[in-house]
Amino acid sequence: MPLDLVRRLLTPLRDPVATSRYPEAAPLLQFATRGMPEIDPALCDGSGECAEACPTEAIELGISGAIRAIDAGRCIFCSACVIACPKGALSMGSRVELAAADRTELIKAAPPATSVRPLDGQVRRQVLSRMGRSLHVRHLDAGSCNGCDWECAALLNPYHDIQRLGIDFVASPRHADLLLVTGVMTRNLEEAARRTYEAMPEPRLVVAVGACAISGGVFAGSPEARDGIAGVVPVDVFVPGCPPRPEALIEALLKAIELGRASRPEVAAARPE
Ligand code: SF4
Ligand code: SF4
Repeated sequence: MPLDLVRRLLTPLRDPVATSRYPEAAPLLQFATRGMPEIDPALCDGSGECAEACPTEAIELGISGAIRAIDAGRCIFCSACVIACPKGALSMGSRVELAAADRTELIKAAPPATSVRPLDGQVRRQVLSRMGRSLHVRHLDAGSCNGCDWECAALLNPYHDIQRLGIDFVASPRHADLLLVTGVMTRNLEEAARRTYEAMPEPRLVVAVGACAISGGVFAGSPEARDGIAGVVPVDVFVPGCPPRPEALIEALLKAIELGRASRPEVAAARPE
C-alpha cells in the first residue's frame, strides 16, 4: 500500500477532531481531488495535441508548439490535455490553493509554490483584528451550474465550519463586507448583480468563484452571458476551479481579508493582532 494512502487512512486516528484545521493544517484532500495540470517541459514534443483537446482554450502554446502557459482562470481540471498528450508530458496535480488578486497571475507555466501555513488560532485573530469583528459574506449566483454553489454551501457544514474563523454568510448585501460570486454573469442577472454590489456598505470586496466567474469557463463566448463577472463588478480575488474546493474558497477569503486590511487601516490599528 503506498505510504501516502496509509498516512491518509491513519489521520482520523491521530486527530479525532472531525472539523478541518485548514488553513493552519494542510488541506486533507480526497484521493480523486484534481488541481491544475502539471507540465514536464523535458517531455513536451510540441505536437500541440493538448491545446486542441482543451475545451476552454486554457493552454497557450509557444512558437515551437510547446506549452507556454496554462490559464488557471479557464482550466476546468478536466484532464483532457493529459489524456491527449502522446508523450506523457502532462499530469493532473492536486494543489487547490490557487487564488490570486491579479487575473494575470493565473496564467502561468507552473502553479505557484505552496502557501505558508499560519499558526494555530492566527487566522481567527487576523479576521477579528482586520475586519473589525468578523467577515460577513453575501453569496450571489450570477448564472452557475450550481457546482460552485454547493462548494460555497459546504463552507458552513460541520467539517469546514467557516464560522470557526470568524467568517459567516448573511442574507442581505446591506450587511455584507464581501460578495462571493459564482457563475458566468448572464445578461439577465447583470442589473441584479450591479444593484447587489451597490447595496453593500464601503469598503466592499468581491471574490470571483470558479472558471465561469473568472472567464466564462465552458460557456465562454455565449451571447447570453459575459465571459466572467469582472466587466460588471470589480473583482478583488479570483479563485480557480470547476468548482473550487472549500479549502480554495477559504484561501480566497483570507486573501480578500488581507486586501480589506489595506483599505481599512484604522480598524487594523485599533485592535490587537
Ligand atoms: S485540464 Fe482540461 S481545461 Fe485544464 S488545461 Fe487541460 S484540457 Fe484544458
Ligand atoms: S465553474 Fe464549473 S462548477 Fe462552477 S458554475 Fe461554472 S461549470 Fe459549474
